[in-house]
Amino acid sequence: MADQILASTQSVLENFHLKPEDISKFTAIYDDLDSLAQLIRRGQNNITLHCKEREELDQTNQIKEMDMHMRKLLDLETTLNSTKTAIEKIPNDITRGERVNDVLTIYDAELSKLDNEYNNKSEKDKYLTNDRYVLYREHIWNVKHADIDMPPLTEENNNNDEEIVMGPTKLSFKCPITTSWLEQPMTSRVCKHSFTKSAITQLIRINHGAVTCPVSGCNKYIRMDILYDDELLADKVKRAKEKAEEESFPTEFYDIE
Ligand SMILES: [Zn+2]
Repeated sequence: MADQILASTQSVLENFHLKPEDISKFTAIYDDLDSLAQLIRRGQNNITLHCKEREELDQTNQIKEMDMHMRKLLDLETTLNSTKTAIEKIPNDITRGERVNDVLTIYDAELSKLDNEYNNKSEKDKYLTNDRYVLYREHIWNVKHADIDMPPLTEENNNNDEEIVMGPTKLSFKCPITTSWLEQPMTSRVCKHSFTKSAITQLIRINHGAVTCPVSGCNKYIRMDILYDDELLADKVKRAKEKAEEESFPTEFYDIE
């Protein structure tokens, strides 16, 4: 009797595998992870705001300390994404028709593979080329250099003097179409030129969906799908405008190099 129970239990265990209808059970886990991801994002935004305030007050040491926290949050975000990928591997395997009976082994193997990949990355690959990290650093940079593009962070180690700016790009805060201050600026992903949203939208419409870039010397085509709302630039324009009004001094118009 006992032998029979053991045999049938073993056979059930040996034949156990997750089926396509089990996949829905994984979505509940994703939801939990998503709310965690939102918390991390909120933390990153708070650090950015704090750093901007510190930069205005020249509190460099506090910024350095916060930078460590920012990097930790980015690590955490990566861990979270790896966890998600490792969990996702299981329903993906099931969908591909593989027999999945040992969920933890698959998960552990995938997670440690991803962890190793991340841990072996350089500082440059972990942070200095990470979009979120770059955006955060741009926000801090803009506090004091609203009219100069931030040099790539990857050049930072070759250049310890913060005051030296490598090949600054003079930025235009005026729209090449309206020739007045950019309003709700949109920037082209292709040529990086920026325009007032209403002006470029109208121009593209009149030209049936595509127009040669209005910046003289630029021959790229501008379509709505290569334009993005440039909030960072909007912030710069706002600061430059305020500064110009303070000084009641007409700002010059520069072409982007
Ligand atoms: Zn252009």
